[in-house]
Amino acid sequence: MIWLLPRFLAVVLAMLAGGVMGLWIDRADASVVGLLLGGAFAISVVVVRDTLHGYRLIAWLRGSQEGPAPRDAGLWGELGYRIERSLRLREHAAATERTRLTQFLSAIEASPNGVMLLDAGDQIEWCNSLAADHFGLDPQRDRRQRITNLVRAPAFVAYLQAGRFDEPVQMPEPRGKGLLSVLVREYGDDQKLVLSQDITERERSDGMRRDFVANVSHEIRTPLTVLAGFIETLRSLPLTEVERKRVLQLMTQQADRMGSLVSDLLTLAQLEGSPRPNADRWVALKPVLAQVEIDARVLSAGRHTLVFAADVEAQIAGAQNELQSAVTNLVNNAVRYTPEGGRIELTWRVQGDGSGEIAVSDTGPGIAREHLPRLTERFYRVDGSRSRDTGGTGLGLSIVKHVVQRHGGELDIQSEVGKGSVFRLVFPAARVRAGTLDSAVSSATVAVPAPTPAENALG
Ligand code: ADP
Repeated sequence: MIWLLPRFLAVVLAMLAGGVMGLWIDRADASVVGLLLGGAFAISVVVVRDTLHGYRLIAWLRGSQEGPAPRDAGLWGELGYRIERSLRLREHAAATERTRLTQFLSAIEASPNGVMLLDAGDQIEWCNSLAADHFGLDPQRDRRQRITNLVRAPAFVAYLQAGRFDEPVQMPEPRGKGLLSVLVREYGDDQKLVLSQDITERERSDGMRRDFVANVSHEIRTPLTVLAGFIETLRSLPLTEVERKRVLQLMTQQADRMGSLVSDLLTLAQLEGSPRPNADRWVALKPVLAQVEIDARVLSAGRHTLVFAADVEAQIAGAQNELQSAVTNLVNNAVRYTPEGGRIELTWRVQGDGSGEIAVSDTGPGIAREHLPRLTERFYRVDGSRSRDTGGTGLGLSIVKHVVQRHGGELDIQSEVGKGSVFRLVFPAARVRAGTLDSAVSSATVAVPAPTPAENALG
């Protein structure tokens, strides 16, 4: 209120000045006419001055108000100052709100779920880009559109119309081949929060898990049924000694089959549940291949020509038991599927880029092209009865693929029906080095010349 006193003094001074003027104009009736004139003059001065200041303040208010309000003295100065201050406070509050809203929307944008807000009429108010992606929407163009006009999946429309949102609903992705899980939550004035999640991968792995359990149950139930049958036979039928021996032999076969299955399942579980083998633990290949050869000769029992790379002086960084199991699986498959008289060869070579390759080739029946991409799937067999008759579990190549991938490498399969197959385990240069464990060879990869295969034909 500091502007009030000067303003009052100005009016009194103006009236006094008017009085003096009145005295000067008409000495007869000085006091009344002078005071009236003075008053009129004072009011005119104040009105003109107020009009000017008011005009300047209004001009500032009409503008963008970016600069400071007119800094006049007195009433208009204080008015301008207070309006400006209040404006600035509001602008600051609005800016803070805007920042908060932006941060909030960025947080929702970063959500791993699609998020969409619908108003009471199910019109889109806002959606993040993931929701736009899931429902095939354009976040800008489709705003204020009714969601059911844009997303017509019957399951979703029925879910929204039913208004019971306790459980999520599943629907196909409108534009893709995936599957969405959509959950609605109501808030505010009949508004809805729509949360969407891509569950394609989850459903696929659930399906795989279900298939796996079904396959395992089937694989175990078959030998169990056979065993139960034989037990019944032994109990109820008077068998000759020869028949009894035969039955016991068949029972042993079935029990072995179950044993192999459980053992392969455990191996797979271990491979999936343990960390990748260390890249600094070096495994000499020579003893690994030597053991594989011994096993192969026992399994082949002289029915095949076996040719093994001899004196392999190289190492692979990884886990010995896993490498042994992978190569044994490949060689055992070659022996099991190659008819008598066939040839099976195992070679080791270091390629130009330093990667190392163990290749197992055979002159067996070969595999038709259409089966190749699925061979490493669990329980996938080209010839089921041949696999089972020779003690196969359908898990061997799955184990091989796991092992080689855990060592940073890959399994390559080439095969031609009637000509045979080649299974290659390719290990990256970083996991391959030349020399035996004793020789102090630098860890730099050195190409090892392909060894002369020592032919060890049996039979
Ligand atoms: P299995 O225990 O049945 O041998 P694998 O996973 O080891 O299971 O192999 C999958 C399928 O690939 C086999 O059932 C067989 O049909 C085919 N297969 C594997 N190795 C060979 C091979 N060397 N020659 C021909 N077929 C093979």
